[in-house]
Amino acid sequence: MPRRSRFPAIAFIACAPFLASCDRDEPPVASPVVEERETRTAWIDAERIRNADAEPHNWLAHGRTFSEQRYSPLDQVNTDNVGNLELAWYLDLDTSRGQQATPIVVDGVLYSTSAWSKVQAVDAKTGRLLWQYDPQVPGIWDVRACCGVQNRGAAIWQGRVISATLDGRLIALDAVTGELIWEILTTDQAQSYTITGAPRIIGDKIIIGNGGAEYGVRGYVTAYDLETGEQVWRFYTVPGNPADGFEDDTQAMAAETWTGEWWAQGGGGTAWDSFAYDPELNLVYVGTGNGSPWPRSIRSPGGGDNLFLASIVALDADSGEYRWHYQTTPGDTWDFTATQHMILADLEIDGQQRQVLMQAPKNGFFFVLDRETGELISAENFVPVNWATHIDMATGRPVEAIDARYDETLAAKKIAPGPAGSHNWHPMSYNPDTGLVYIPARQAPLVYKRDEEFEPRPIGANLGVNTWDPPGEIIDLPEEFMPEFQGMLLAWDPVEQKEAWRAGQPLFENGGVLSTAGNLVFHGTADDRLKAYNAQSGEQLWSTDTQSGVLAPPITYSIDGEQYIAVVAGWGGVYANLLGVVLNADGKRENISRILAFKLNGDAELPARPAPPEAPEAPAIFGGEEQIAAGGSLYGKSCAICHGVAAISGGVLPDLRRSPMIGSAEAFHSVVIDGAMVDRGMAGWSEVLSDEDAEAIRAFIVFMANQ
Ligand code: CA
Repeated sequence: MPRRSRFPAIAFIACAPFLASCDRDEPPVASPVVEERETRTAWIDAERIRNADAEPHNWLAHGRTFSEQRYSPLDQVNTDNVGNLELAWYLDLDTSRGQQATPIVVDGVLYSTSAWSKVQAVDAKTGRLLWQYDPQVPGIWDVRACCGVQNRGAAIWQGRVISATLDGRLIALDAVTGELIWEILTTDQAQSYTITGAPRIIGDKIIIGNGGAEYGVRGYVTAYDLETGEQVWRFYTVPGNPADGFEDDTQAMAAETWTGEWWAQGGGGTAWDSFAYDPELNLVYVGTGNGSPWPRSIRSPGGGDNLFLASIVALDADSGEYRWHYQTTPGDTWDFTATQHMILADLEIDGQQRQVLMQAPKNGFFFVLDRETGELISAENFVPVNWATHIDMATGRPVEAIDARYDETLAAKKIAPGPAGSHNWHPMSYNPDTGLVYIPARQAPLVYKRDEEFEPRPIGANLGVNTWDPPGEIIDLPEEFMPEFQGMLLAWDPVEQKEAWRAGQPLFENGGVLSTAGNLVFHGTADDRLKAYNAQSGEQLWSTDTQSGVLAPPITYSIDGEQYIAVVAGWGGVYANLLGVVLNADGKRENISRILAFKLNGDAELPARPAPPEAPEAPAIFGGEEQIAAGGSLYGKSCAICHGVAAISGGVLPDLRRSPMIGSAEAFHSVVIDGAMVDRGMAGWSEVLSDEDAEAIRAFIVFMANQ
């Protein structure tokens, strides 16, 4: 049960002179009395976010404004002087499992989150930690999360920091003290729902989604009352079992697009990251995820579009009622989520002023929609793709390549993009000065082959796809897709639907983006850098060593007349874990999680990088060819998603090839089967793996350690 809120007393004081506006039917209105606001810490509400441009020194919401443009009007740091940008302060974080947060800055205090759903308040001028809240997420939740234990940020509302935890809780903290005010459970903890996304303020409510489409859950989003934490509405992104009765007509309509017993595997469609809110239209936009499991032929064997997978769904912000949807990938079978960043902007298209919503989802097409009606205005691919030839503007649907449905052809096919997507959660930025959208884009194809022996497992991801070691021949990609793995900052003209410029990056998994009125674009990269580009030309103007790969998007704010650029550095996430073979080929990657803030002529300095640990001698190879091969196959299915393909660590989790555990069957089994390290996130796998299986996996890792 939620603890009773302390808000009503405060609300009464705030509203006393304006009783008429404190009616229950109306959102609480921010007091226009400036003296009052100044005495209240972190006093953000929907009205203040709507007027965010009146206080560009703050960063009041996840995307700075409701438009989620991640563009700042601050211009003290600009193309002329960005070369003088230096470190102002840094703060080491006590968790290094990958950082993805967008901090909020209000009146000199920076509120961030870190891995394991921890929340920090930091003096934004000095970097001094004011408080940290640890929601004590049990380690077992690591294995229920496809993609690491990251968190992408908090929202602030009237003196409270509101954040979600990996194990499904929504919590409200006192912004001054960090004390817990209320906490509510938003998911059924018996299922593998996880939350890594940031909640968003929508009027007088807060909305939160969840993840778990790789683990057999049914996706939904919930809006809660900000005062009490009580549920106001819930919208399911896929229909449930018809025998249980549908929640409403929209669910019945969606069920028409499914076949078979889709509900048995949850259906997926989880909204794990992106939301946007248009206060004028009173619409909230929800980006939804992939199907559970991945191949449509398993989940919905008679075909169908499978609404609302891989879609942008517009809901009435007050009631949660369905208004419209656009499905970016009908009948998804490739993990092509549409959970990616959505940007709202007003653009002139064909001589007409249009209110648009823009998204570059995983599937590689850049979509421009009318955000009032959901009408598709335009769509072009922003990197090469081979699953579809184009989007047919007459039907609004992709024209799929003839053999793209690997789950129907049953062939192993390399598809571009793969499940990493042409663009993932890493936020983009729209700069109204240049009219360009800056996309942290990439090429990352992968082999898909339907797992013909698919059986859902009680632990570990249930993809239904054999991506790591498909037997038989693989249909490869043509030459134009090489090199396969490429990362780039792409400046995209959303009106012309074409590339303006690109800045290639050494590795494919890079960070989110910020653009500013200083004609700058800031972008953190996998090669341990924060870089600044001329927003118009793409010329790189500045770069600094972050000592760790950057995934999170930078933000900017100013205090006492000085502009700061801040970013939470820290390597991690699913591709950092999975594809060490690509992202950490030399094995030298380290992860140091920190908040870094830069200003003109800052005078702080990072400590020297710690020396990398010496690699221990590998134990002697044991087991025959057969046992090692069997271990490799089991490893691919159960271990690779966290510990890396071919046992090559991405630099976040321990490199198993160097682990002292692999030298002893007893020690290895105590961890892998009995769960001796469950508090650190390594669950015991006795439900899925036998002692013999564990020994085969050990033989495989020892073999790899000797390569
Ligand atoms: Ca997914």
